[in-house]
Amino acid sequence: MKTKERKTPLILGAHLSIARGIHRALHDAADLGCGALQVFTKNAGTWREKDITDKQADAFGAAVEETGIKQVFSHCAYLINLAGNDEEKTAMSVEALYREMLRCEKLGIPFVVLHPGSHMGDGEEKGIQRIAANLDRVMERIGKGKTMVLLETTAGQGSALGCTFEQLAAMRDRSNCGDRIGFCLDTCHIFAAGYDISDEKSYKRTMTAFDDAIGLSHLCLLHLNDVKKPCGSRVDRHTHIGEGYIGDAGFRLVVNDSRLSAIPMIIETPKEKEGQNADKINLDRLRAFYG
Ligand SMILES: [Zn+2]
Repeated sequence: MKTKERKTPLILGAHLSIARGIHRALHDAADLGCGALQVFTKNAGTWREKDITDKQADAFGAAVEETGIKQVFSHCAYLINLAGNDEEKTAMSVEALYREMLRCEKLGIPFVVLHPGSHMGDGEEKGIQRIAANLDRVMERIGKGKTMVLLETTAGQGSALGCTFEQLAAMRDRSNCGDRIGFCLDTCHIFAAGYDISDEKSYKRTMTAFDDAIGLSHLCLLHLNDVKKPCGSRVDRHTHIGEGYIGDAGFRLVVNDSRLSAIPMIIETPKEKEGQNADKINLDRLRAFYG
């Protein structure tokens, strides 16, 4: 039975641009009333790497203090594939994840979000094994560190792995650094992969499946995105909260699920809506569902 106790505030956030400096993204998040933030620490569409300077790290640390936003997540470059069969690309991917982890360690960012990878026709088993082994290679090179890798649920486009909760759990299980691997659940991706959450019955079934396979205690981040295509389409197309197939009812269930109340929820929805800042609109919509 529900009592009328005051709920703790949601830890909401958005993926924001670092174009004006990575520390500025924290202030932009604070302006949106966010308690969490996701960024790219470099251009996510290229292999080109960049290190974080002392000056950047200092400015970032100062902005964390000023804004009080400590729940910061970095999203890896999209080119990284830890599951593939091309040796050169795999080496580049391991290097890219390593450099990403170094940037995060320097900035004090505790979590790196990663799409696990695509097996490129070699099958689930081989792909999962490669992901686990390559995660171990990166962690060995990093040595002692604080930053964790969060494996993100995927829509299952092409040969992308991570579209079932069992696959994700197996990646962690087969790695030697499971204590530094957590998970990110993206509502759009799981819905596209066939896990419905648009009504109470399906939501319960999906969250039970997640808890059984992975364990909710390993869930460190939620990506809240509505979806343009029906459940099971395997097509990854984000849209504004409440305007897709998950709809208001689905997101109402997510934000009011007490098991998720301490987990940051970050939107990756389109940035503009009728000429207005859509982040504010989408975040306000989520806030309105709460309680
Ligand atoms: Zn996502």
